[in-house]
Amino acid sequence: MQQDIQVTIVGSSNVDITALMARLPGPGETVLADSYQLSPGGKGANQALAAQLAGAATEFIGAVGKDSHSEVALGQLDGAGVKLDRVARSSQPTGVAIIQVDSGAENSIAVVSGANSTMTDQAVKAAGAIDGILVLQGEIPASGIKAAMDAATDRIVLNLAPVIELDRDYLLKANPLVVNEHEAEAVLHQLNPHLGLRFNGRYERLAAMLIEEGITSVVITLGASGCLVADKFPAENGGAQVRPLPAAKVKAVDTTGAGDAFTGALAARLANGEDLVQAAEFAGKFAALTVQAHGAQASYPRSLENL
Ligand code: ADP
Repeated sequence: MQQDIQVTIVGSSNVDITALMARLPGPGETVLADSYQLSPGGKGANQALAAQLAGAATEFIGAVGKDSHSEVALGQLDGAGVKLDRVARSSQPTGVAIIQVDSGAENSIAVVSGANSTMTDQAVKAAGAIDGILVLQGEIPASGIKAAMDAATDRIVLNLAPVIELDRDYLLKANPLVVNEHEAEAVLHQLNPHLGLRFNGRYERLAAMLIEEGITSVVITLGASGCLVADKFPAENGGAQVRPLPAAKVKAVDTTGAGDAFTGALAARLANGEDLVQAAEFAGKFAALTVQAHGAQASYPRSLENL
């Protein structure tokens, strides 16, 4: 029997083409690379896999091309049981990220959005109703993000990465807004360009200011330092309460996709009835497991036994 969908992710899926080389080529230069690999990526797809593995029945709504990369892009999601019935097949190619990594782990990345760029308001409206908690990122056009928000009937988790222009009314629909410290500054600037951008590392203040601007709840992720969870308190006078949650102390080998693991796991736990602090605590543990293994989707835990 098909389970009711608890989390719907509307967003991007890509294939990461990663070439490993001693040093990155300069302009006009060719270098011989040692090896390459294809792996599934895109923030939307990563978050969908994380939400499903964290225990929520999850649907991914996005677009891929009619090419062989689409199988790589969706393979892990399919294998994990994410619902993919409403993934559109576009005449544009499956999105790709062309990644060059040198021996010092320095990288350069070119992203071709391809089919992801077709996720406009028209495409999202054509997909139909949004079931459960809606999760969005900044890798599809703003018109598609807004159409998904208009169709949402439950809370909206907005991971505005990368930060793109959204009208104030739509930014204020986030509950929570999930962003890293740099994205948090950029969103505050969008909401109120007069507030200035200097916080001197006082991210608690930054979180409080986002709440004071009218966002219902905010999670700022801070890498190995964990995250800050902020919401309105007391709700009547528009004040903010901000709680720091430390990260587990682990040996990180590759943080690719950790933020996506965090967001997907957070949405899954909210869908299962936890409050924001409980959900963020779980998401932090889930993300800490992923930084101890290589890759993005490949590093996501297939069992929740160690959590
Ligand atoms: P982004 O990649 O979007 O900037 P972060 O680097 O802030 O995201 O990571 C997201 C979450 O992943 C963090 O809030 C934390 O819970 C977890 N995390 C990331 N790096 C580490 C680390 N080195 N050790 C433990 N947890 C980590």
